[in-house]
Amino acid sequence: ACGLDAIGSDSLGRAEIDHNKCVSCGMCLVNCPFGAIADKGQIFQTIHAIKTGVPVYAAVAPAFVGQFGKDLTPERLRSALKELGFADMVEVAVGADLCTIEEARDFLNEVPQKQPFMATSCCPAWASMAKQLYPDLAPYISMALTPMVLTGRLLKRKHPGCKVVFIGPCSAKKLEASRTEIRSDIDFVLTFEEVAGMFTAKGVDFKKIAPDGELSNATADGRGFAVSSGVAEAVVNCIHEMEPGREVKVANAESLRDCRKLLDEARKGVYDGYLLEGMACPGGCVGGAGTMQSPTKAKGQILMTKKKSVLKNSLESTYKEDLEVLEERNG
Ligand code: SF4
Repeated sequence: ACGLDAIGSDSLGRAEIDHNKCVSCGMCLVNCPFGAIADKGQIFQTIHAIKTGVPVYAAVAPAFVGQFGKDLTPERLRSALKELGFADMVEVAVGADLCTIEEARDFLNEVPQKQPFMATSCCPAWASMAKQLYPDLAPYISMALTPMVLTGRLLKRKHPGCKVVFIGPCSAKKLEASRTEIRSDIDFVLTFEEVAGMFTAKGVDFKKIAPDGELSNATADGRGFAVSSGVAEAVVNCIHEMEPGREVKVANAESLRDCRKLLDEARKGVYDGYLLEGMACPGGCVGGAGTMQSPTKAKGQILMTKKKSVLKNSLESTYKEDLEVLEERNG
């Protein structure tokens, strides 16, 4: 299951994870036949923060659609999270829109004049793997902040003093959020599975929850980040709005093993002029370690949500003006 061959055995034959290689994609966790591997949870820390009375906001990843069963529709999600004690929620698809705009700008400015190709940056496991195994190609990974970080910064700017909990499909985000430069943007990370446990423990009955209108102003393209090839599609759509007629060739890979093949080819010059999208999990984030639905079923529901979205292109994001300030903080 490990795309980085990071699992070996010690002298007694016991499984051992090489933490210098591991990028925390979580694939060992979902594939271990004995359920012997678990990641660290922050449910306790989240509940403790809620109990202190500080407003705690949920930043929910685009892959949430369909994860909590048919009764928890997107329209009911806000109310359901408030039942757990969250002050409010925002879709991380909002940050995905901002990430798209940044990556589209980067591509137009850099490829091919300053670099041969550009790789997307939103999957931390893919980006860490690329930096670790292909240091010569690392400068070609977009410097855009990830949707999680952009959403966290947006929330902290709008609600000073609040705490932000990222809720998503991803184990790698737990590692990303623990980095020193990001710690102030995201306080805790929970997976969908962990939040499902919180709903059960609190006895939240989704059927009794009244729909609470539209979620936020995320666009269809931002919501598409949850499925493989969705990130590249969003960036290409944005580039076409910014520079009509510009041809952008795209190649993508899902699972770390295939991502490595993609970068092997890129190193040989096969993808010069391309936009490359890498996702560590099969199917993209819908196949993440913290999901509960089959990736195929989840993908279908996400595509339906995209279709219903009023705003289509990331450039239509109503948060576009915030991007400059958020980037400033990035230095
Ligand atoms: Fe996380 Fe998505 Fe990357 Fe999987 S594909 S590691 S869920 S960001």
